[in-house]
Amino acid sequence: MALRVGVIGGGQLARMMIAPAVELGLELRVLAEDEGMSAQLAATAVGDYRDLEVVRAFVADVDVVTFDHEHVPQEVLRALVDDGVAVHPGPDALQFAQDKLVMRARLAELGVPQPDWAPVRDAAELQVFLDAHGGAGVVKTPRGGYDGKGVRVVRSADEAQDWLGGLAEGEALLVEELVSFARELAQQVARRPSGEIVAYPVVETVQRDGVCAEVIAPAPAAAGRLVEVAEGIGRSIAEGLGVTGMLAVELFETDDERILVNELAMRPHNSGHWSQDGAVTGQFEQHLRAVADLPLGDPSPRAPWSVMVNILGGPSEGTMGDRFAAAMSEHPSAKIHTYGKAPRPGRKVGHVNVSGDDLDDAVYTARAAAAHFD
Ligand code: ADP
Repeated sequence: MALRVGVIGGGQLARMMIAPAVELGLELRVLAEDEGMSAQLAATAVGDYRDLEVVRAFVADVDVVTFDHEHVPQEVLRALVDDGVAVHPGPDALQFAQDKLVMRARLAELGVPQPDWAPVRDAAELQVFLDAHGGAGVVKTPRGGYDGKGVRVVRSADEAQDWLGGLAEGEALLVEELVSFARELAQQVARRPSGEIVAYPVVETVQRDGVCAEVIAPAPAAAGRLVEVAEGIGRSIAEGLGVTGMLAVELFETDDERILVNELAMRPHNSGHWSQDGAVTGQFEQHLRAVADLPLGDPSPRAPWSVMVNILGGPSEGTMGDRFAAAMSEHPSAKIHTYGKAPRPGRKVGHVNVSGDDLDDAVYTARAAAAHFD
């Protein structure tokens, strides 16, 4: 009987696991938050991932559980593990992707390079940190942030008063030094429960308004040392935290050429969408292989350059289908991926991948194809 993989969360990441699951001969089932989500093409149950009994019913007939997002509560994850369910990544690893303060403390223990940081409980503590770091810092809510929500640059403790005031007893915010970075990078690795690890080339990510806009793989002008340092960081975090499945490590390359870890994602990640069409083994196939403890695939690029451009918002007039047809006919070398989501301003509704020998050509074609959806 085919191995059954259960994915908690019905967004586009679960959706993009469907095709590789079919090819690998795996049976994919999805626990979606609502009807009509991106992953509804797979056998989909609908229910609340925070409700242990809902999740227990969903996992009753799967062999391994994995995720489209990192929000399943620790209590639910630990109960599943106690029930004997194979959960990848497991709760011990996932806690570091769920809480940025817990992550910072653990990365410090592992000796991984990261921005200066501190937990702050009140305005006085925050002001002490700001005063020691040139009067500026980046305040983050440790849990539940995404796409730049829950991240704020501040130059005085007053500017975080609303968040500080909302803290419950025993809670803290994370404050980090305001890193002067030349660019942002991402390193992905995949790790199996049995320990095998493969690393993708480090990529450059470009964010607009806190949201990933474009990715270039591999990162241009990535000197040998940068490639080695980034890969070493990815491997040591995957091993040190016991991550299973895909791990994405978001990195800053500083003006003085240091590499610092920004944050972690333990699932396929926007920075790896290029690999669907640009690598021998795409990240969604790799994630499935890893969580099912199958031999990992070759992560090598299939072309000198791959470029990914996100489609944000979607068309203000006409339908996605019309735009899709026009983009396909004008840019036959572009691989256009749509998520089956209703367009809304700022919402990720798809992406375009283009690979080739010439970086400028690939960037131009990917942007031109994506522009059909503006
Ligand atoms: P999210 O969880 O919303 O993705 P991140 O922690 O990745 O939040 O921060 C979002 C963006 O804010 C980053 O991609 C980066 O551009 C900027 N940022 C985050 N932390 C810092 C920092 N310490 N210094 C400078 N910029 C930062």
